[in-house]
Amino acid sequence: MQPCKVIAIANQKGGVGKTTTAVNLGAGLACAGKKVLLVDGDLQGDLTTCLGWWDTDALPVTLATHMEHQIRDAPIDAREGILHHREGVDLLPASIELSGMEMLLVNAMSREFAMRSCLQNLRKDYEYILIDCMPSLGMLTINALAAADSVIVPVQAHYLPLKGMTQLMRTIGKVQCQINPELKVEGVLLTLVDMRTNLAKATAESLHNNYGNAIPIYQSIIPVAIKAAEVSAAGTSLYAYDRGSPAAEAYRTFTREVLRSDEK
Ligand code: ADP
Ligand code: MG
Repeated sequence: MQPCKVIAIANQKGGVGKTTTAVNLGAGLACAGKKVLLVDGDLQGDLTTCLGWWDTDALPVTLATHMEHQIRDAPIDAREGILHHREGVDLLPASIELSGMEMLLVNAMSREFAMRSCLQNLRKDYEYILIDCMPSLGMLTINALAAADSVIVPVQAHYLPLKGMTQLMRTIGKVQCQINPELKVEGVLLTLVDMRTNLAKATAESLHNNYGNAIPIYQSIIPVAIKAAEVSAAGTSLYAYDRGSPAAEAYRTFTREVLRSDEK
């Protein structure tokens, strides 16, 4: 087993494909034989419902449970509450319980490191831990960035995303300086690309121009596809839902790109 890599999937903008990327990169890595844990770091619990656990309120143990125990210094088995999906990925789920966490973290000691501590004991069990972040740069996202070895930034090619990118890169820079010097930007992934327009090309170009060599941009691009929108209600990955669809193919290619960059 290769050493564990923890990757945060982050962008403070909602609807850019973070959760979809977590599901399909996770399932893709599992398909390649890797041991994968997905962590739902969003109090909306979208990742949890996308994987088929629709009634998140009924889940007895979630990421919030683990973080609370961490903050209160109460013992809990690191594997408690971890769910197993039939496509071979494990999930540490989330529910609305997580909404109390931002407040709880404000007054906690080492408040940036609560998630990191929760995941520390799980590293030995997995080769990849993917954290699906909230659409904000609040304490939960800071916790995810503090826990991560690297970050993947999905960017919707629809709007020029530069303003949001500047803010995100500034936050990542701050985390690198003050909390987690090892944090790397793995790459930017263009999502929801409409092949009929030139916007994707323009977005990629403006990203290249503005960030130059500072941020790698994945060659894979994820097309906007009806199957990718439908699958969030199916409880599976795109591969299980419609393995031949262009969106499934795009995520397969992206998974290979992620794997290749780790082989180097
Ligand atoms: P985020 O986690 O960044 O908010 P999501 O992954 O939840 O983004 O995607 C936002 C919405 O767009 C969801 O309804 C999802 O089903 C849909 N979606 C995601 N990727 C695609 C795609 N490639 N094509 C079409 N719809 C998509
Ligand atoms: Mg999401």
